[in-house]
Amino acid sequence: MKLDVLQPEVIVDITGLRDVSMHRIDRSAGELRIGSLVSMAALHEDQSIGRDYPILIESLWQAASQQLRNMARLGGNVLQRTRCSYFRDPSFEQCNKRVPGSGCAALDGANRGHAILGTSEHCIALYAGDWAPALVALDARVEILGRTGLRTLDVADLHRLPGQTPHIETNLVPGELITAIIVPGGPRRRSLYRKIRDRQSYQFANASAAVALELEGDVVRDVRIGLGGVATIPWRARKAEKALLGARLNEASARAAADAEFRDARTRKQNLYKVPLGKATLVRSLLEAQAMEVA
Ligand code: SF4
Repeated sequence: MKLDVLQPEVIVDITGLRDVSMHRIDRSAGELRIGSLVSMAALHEDQSIGRDYPILIESLWQAASQQLRNMARLGGNVLQRTRCSYFRDPSFEQCNKRVPGSGCAALDGANRGHAILGTSEHCIALYAGDWAPALVALDARVEILGRTGLRTLDVADLHRLPGQTPHIETNLVPGELITAIIVPGGPRRRSLYRKIRDRQSYQFANASAAVALELEGDVVRDVRIGLGGVATIPWRARKAEKALLGARLNEASARAAADAEFRDARTRKQNLYKVPLGKATLVRSLLEAQAMEVA
């Protein structure tokens, strides 16, 4: 809105909603339920979450500044929009996401920061957030309240690939509100989030990896991987997961998994570097998760 990209006729402030469950972190039902109006800072400062879900705390700590974390709510954070400079500057006429059917200036323009996975010939805009890839790696769901009641949706299915309709970004329908984020099951202590960026603070990812791992010795019993900084949506790395499941985790198997995931990457002139960087980030994250000392 500040950039004049959007001019909504009506804005609804939901911070005053009194439903306490939207403001609360609740673990009483054997799962982690985070109200959508909990701030990034409140979750980040919860020490029991830091112990049991390091992946969540690390993804929040590396997202935004402290001032923004104090204000930003977790339900809104998953819906953050692209940083594509052509989308955010209305003086550019070609942007299918902002003006459907107008073209995509990024395809042959400044595309160093754009996506290489999940793209289409209509849009290559990056999903730039850190929190949603971590949620994807935890198999989290969003709880949604709409006109017909409550429903849930996997975070991995919340965002839509751009395809031919990049202006339709999520599978939410008009009138729906995210009320909570639900992480099923118990603690995921062998989990982490690694983010590579041009500078170490207040910067979006060039590549990131969120890994939740369960090992028996060196054998992978369960693994879930979310990728950021490389895809049009918070990316569930299912090909890498499949390659790792039941395998011994070592540098060679981690590399093979990363190769499998990035095999279908589609690069443009300025973002070729994201293939080796994305792979290296994933390999490093897997090996660091393996090396974690877990009580
Ligand atoms: Fe618009 Fe997507 Fe192209 Fe960016 S990449 S200019 S958001 S259509």
